[in-house]
Amino acid sequence: MSQYDFDLFTIGAGSGGVRASRIAAGHGARVAVAEERYFGGTCVNVGCVPKKLLVYGAEYGQAFEDAAGFGWQVEKPTHDWNALIEAKDKEIARLNGIYQRLLEGAGVTVFEGRATIVDAHTVEVNGKRVTAERILVATGGWPELPKEPGAREYGITSNEIFYLKEFPKRVVVAGGGYIALEFAGLFNGLGAKVTQLYRGRQILRGFDLDVREFVADEVRKSGIDLRLNTIIDRIEKVETGLIAHLSDGQRIECDAVVYAIGRKPLTKDLGLEKPGVELDDAGAIKVNDQYQTNVPSIYALGDVTNRVNLTPVALAEGHVLADRLYGNRARDVNYDNIPTAVFSIPPVATVGITEEQARATLPSGVDIYRTNFKPMRHQLSGRDQRTFMKLVVDRETQKVVGSHMVGTDTPEMIQGIAVAMNAGATKQMFDNTIGLHPTAAEEFVTMRTKSPDPV
Ligand code: FAD
Ligand code: NDP
Repeated sequence: MSQYDFDLFTIGAGSGGVRASRIAAGHGARVAVAEERYFGGTCVNVGCVPKKLLVYGAEYGQAFEDAAGFGWQVEKPTHDWNALIEAKDKEIARLNGIYQRLLEGAGVTVFEGRATIVDAHTVEVNGKRVTAERILVATGGWPELPKEPGAREYGITSNEIFYLKEFPKRVVVAGGGYIALEFAGLFNGLGAKVTQLYRGRQILRGFDLDVREFVADEVRKSGIDLRLNTIIDRIEKVETGLIAHLSDGQRIECDAVVYAIGRKPLTKDLGLEKPGVELDDAGAIKVNDQYQTNVPSIYALGDVTNRVNLTPVALAEGHVLADRLYGNRARDVNYDNIPTAVFSIPPVATVGITEEQARATLPSGVDIYRTNFKPMRHQLSGRDQRTFMKLVVDRETQKVVGSHMVGTDTPEMIQGIAVAMNAGATKQMFDNTIGLHPTAAEEFVTMRTKSPDPV
């Protein structure tokens, strides 16, 4: 008999924690998991899933307008925010149940409550001490609010948006990353007047520069008032709503100020200091390439390690760790060519490196192919929306090292391109592939003209 109550105790039943726990239990380990808030974690409850449902909802707004170009006579539609939130809540409740049943069905012992670490082999949950040979911390992250006057009293984050009782007709969104673009797009699509403020020179820092410039133009055309080099100095509450006082002296009256300025790893008050688990400057748990902290019995993965903060990455890390520890299968997560999308309207999807990264790292240079066109759908819809595509090719090996796209349905396309890139596809292989006609995707295999090198 083991000296511990469990082989593995997982703190957090989000993407990474659920996957690691249920796979470990499937391999025969005695596993417990503690969840303090909601089964399925951020992604299922206040992240990817409800966000995408609201984005779908917002896209219908455009579809009604566009339908006129195809002969539909549509009365000006109205939108019921509460009906959308109710439908979303029903779907999320269904998914919560599935996650809980997945755990219980796999034989995992579930504790509903907040867990804290007591020592290298002990956690405390609901006033009870439980021991485990190994502890896995998969507590995720939490949105940040800045210190500006009024921000903490009146500002909201992505967490609150999903439960707003009333639709805010005038919204100010602060930030220029994933969440800011997604929420600006969905509020705009649902009929709000949206102002988006970004502190730097161009949104989506870290993405390909062409993509950043293109999507900024597109979201402006969609009706969002995107302002660069601007931050909120303070928020004031007035009888008719809120006033955001901006760094350029302007004031915007609105119903909601949404901060989407990044997320912090959830490591505070977790007891990590007791066994001496090391954190980095951002408060993220430091791990080696086996997800092990400096305390050998304590592991961490997913957003709490603040590396690649995406659901499929947390899932892959959880699976690989459980296989390694309990399934006698040593394999690594492949961090190459991770595709990612920003579900703005229109969306951005990308895999591989940017042109700027390629120029800085590839000694023989790069070949760039880019195209920018009005998709067939919008030839009739009359909507002023274009699609952008770009391939970044290593000049020496002719391998495609970056694929970037802005436009309708791009996230559905880039997944397939990521498979090709992971298989080492060259530009020639793209060119040898017959296009699927008529689609926007076929442009990926028909781009033949190299862009001139910058002077
Ligand atoms: P989480 O899913 O955050 O799970 C952590 C769990 O731990 C939570 O359930 C929490 O309640 C629990 N917990 C924390 N502390 C304790 C404790 N002490 N005791 C017990 N339980 C605890 N990623 C994508 O890939 N695609 C997207 O489209 C996407 N959209 C997003 C949209 C938004 C608005 C946000 C916020 C995130 C989005 N993400 C998206 C990111 C994605 O949600 C995260 O990368 C993913 O959820 C990380 O999984 P995780 O297991 O590390 O943590
Ligand atoms: P991001 O890191 O993507 O973006 C944060 C934004 O806020 C940046 O534009 C940043 O500017 C800006 N910012 C940071 N601090 C301040 C400040 N004090 N004042 C004003 N602006 C500030 O974070 P998000 O919150 O958008 O999302 C968190 C993570 O969640 C993402 O990075 C991603 O990993 C994940 N996610 C994934 C999604 C998807 O896959 N579709 C969707 C949503 C989230 P600067 O660039 O100048 O630092």
